[in-house]
Amino acid sequence: MQHPDTKLLERVVSQVGTPVIIYDEDAIAKKMQTYVNSMKTEHFNTRVLYASKAFLCDAMAKLAYDNDMYFDAVSGGEIDVLKRAGIPAERIYFHGNNKTAKEISDFFLMGRGHIVVDNKDELSLVTDIANGLARQMDVLIRVNPGIEAHTHEYIQTATKDSKFGISIEQTKALEEMIRAIKKDHFLFFKGFHAHIGSQIFEIDAFEAEIAVMGQFIDMVEHKWDVNVEELDLGGGFAISFTDEDKAVPVETICKRIIKSCEDIVNDRKLSLKVISIEPGRSVVGDNAYTIYTAGNRKRTFTKRYLFIDGGMADNIRPALYQADYQCVNLTREDEVCDQKLELAGKCCESGDIIVKGAMLPEPKPGDLILVYATGAYGYSMASNYNRLGRPPVVFIKGKSAREVLRRETYDDMYALESDKTLF
Ligand code: PLP
Repeated sequence: MQHPDTKLLERVVSQVGTPVIIYDEDAIAKKMQTYVNSMKTEHFNTRVLYASKAFLCDAMAKLAYDNDMYFDAVSGGEIDVLKRAGIPAERIYFHGNNKTAKEISDFFLMGRGHIVVDNKDELSLVTDIANGLARQMDVLIRVNPGIEAHTHEYIQTATKDSKFGISIEQTKALEEMIRAIKKDHFLFFKGFHAHIGSQIFEIDAFEAEIAVMGQFIDMVEHKWDVNVEELDLGGGFAISFTDEDKAVPVETICKRIIKSCEDIVNDRKLSLKVISIEPGRSVVGDNAYTIYTAGNRKRTFTKRYLFIDGGMADNIRPALYQADYQCVNLTREDEVCDQKLELAGKCCESGDIIVKGAMLPEPKPGDLILVYATGAYGYSMASNYNRLGRPPVVFIKGKSAREVLRRETYDDMYALESDKTLF
């Protein structure tokens, strides 16, 4: 795997210390442009939504906006960052299975954007708020096409009971929801959204999703006589976390998605005008690196541990779902990697191992250890477990570097302490 120039990375570390997460801004911009350009077709409009949950801050929002991206946001907090970054409501799709009344109202007040309604209760709430505020909104319904895909496998009809969306087999509920939206003065029914999983290598899974959605939309248009303008296919495109992963190039994924969409539109005479996708991980994941400083070492009966100055507080993914990562000792890049080491974090959990069985040179305390592909769901899922502050985030661009999120300090954490009498 490759990483930016070591000298540049060392300069960043000398300025902000470790742990630090470093994003390669040019590489991210290039990925965004590849997505946007590869999705283009003369047959319909296409939108690439950046899934903010993967990693969001002001600089990230502006970078995505400058590269013609739309946004998938799931909470008032994410929308707040987008709003402060100057992203207009029409660029935002508000997802989530339990949006609060305040989150929904605030979004309406921002302008006419897109709400992806997850369930019937939510539709009632959205309708009340729209009418109460007399504000307009485009609406998509999140459906569940019954396909669940993760990494190399996908299963059909596996997720009818998912917490997200409404199964396409719940036709009565869906028809009622669509009719209710169409009847409303302030809401505009646009289409459907589906998301089938994460870290998906098999493009077949997306093609299966498109085929199932094509059949469903055919029924909605021709039986219910309702125009479906937009199909949002969600995200989930895989990246290479290690040398073993063989991620499919973005161009290939988009080409096949577009071809399948063109086929369903032509074959079934659909009126789809907009096709959207929502990549998160594959935009930022493999274009970022976390650098830690090595500390103590330990030998047990069967293992050797190398401890680092971060861990599950800045990257929960290995502990949460056994995610694999790869690392390199930046300080000893020329030395032979003949030591099998457990790269373990400093948190009080046995599962706090960032890389299992990493092949590295004999390490020394103070060495800089770089972990690859930490750009997605690392910082955004970071916690203050064991009262560790979140690391700073640095964007590098060519030979320059800028800090876009500073390190969280003890004072930041202590600022939440309260002594307010409630009763
Ligand atoms: N869209 C929706 C609705 C999601 O739930 C997710 C991830 O959970 C994404 C998009 C982004 O997925 P990924 O980061 O795997 O591309």
